[in-house]
Amino acid sequence: MTLNTAMRFVFTAIGVAVAGAVVWRWQTNGWGSLIWLASLLLMAAIRAPFAKQTRENTITEKHQIIVERVLLAIMAIGTSVLPVVHLVTGALGFANYSLPHWATGVGAAILAPAYWLFWRSHVDLGHNWSVTVELREGHDLVTSGIYKRIRHPMYAAIWLIVITQPLLIHNWIAGPAAIIAFGLMYFIRVPYEEAMMRKQFGHAYEAYCERSAPLWSKRL
Ligand code: SAH
Repeated sequence: MTLNTAMRFVFTAIGVAVAGAVVWRWQTNGWGSLIWLASLLLMAAIRAPFAKQTRENTITEKHQIIVERVLLAIMAIGTSVLPVVHLVTGALGFANYSLPHWATGVGAAILAPAYWLFWRSHVDLGHNWSVTVELREGHDLVTSGIYKRIRHPMYAAIWLIVITQPLLIHNWIAGPAAIIAFGLMYFIRVPYEEAMMRKQFGHAYEAYCERSAPLWSKRL
């Protein structure tokens, strides 16, 4: 067994144990916790084939490597670590709040269009997608499909997903943590991501920015 396979095995085992513990404790945490878990698994499942596909890319430029690492770590804490600690151990129970079932239902309902948008933006970006801000050899400027009028549809999808967390996890620390983490990532990252695209694609990107809005469609 190689080290990589061993690591993958350990991570999978931890993931299964954590998922099992979240399911086990659903009556304590409310049914929103099950939807939250399903959402996390769905995100991983949607991403997996695209992550595999982009592994073949030759990366030509990487931007803000340290800042990106910090932002991704904060995202992991806000969207996974704090919720898991709360749901599995109950250690943050002192900060719990309660919401009516319909509010949890609103959270669950928002996830449907959010995940459609998340999947659609991965399909349209194709090989040009990456977890961090970078350019690949032969990078194309995508301005069609969902990108025709929305410049950051993937981030729009992630905004929708993070706002559901406090509706699904009723805890003042573990709930809003995802919004704070992604808020930081969005407002810090977008300026240098757009600057990189402008430098690479020049007028074509500037004209595209005029036609598109960051998170919503300019014309319906
Ligand atoms: N901000 C976009 C993409 C997020 S993935 C969205 O929210 O949908 C981040 C990577 O996508 C960046 O590193 C950049 O290389 C690439 N990217 C962003 N916009 C792009 C576009 N219109 N065409 C091609 N690649 C793009």
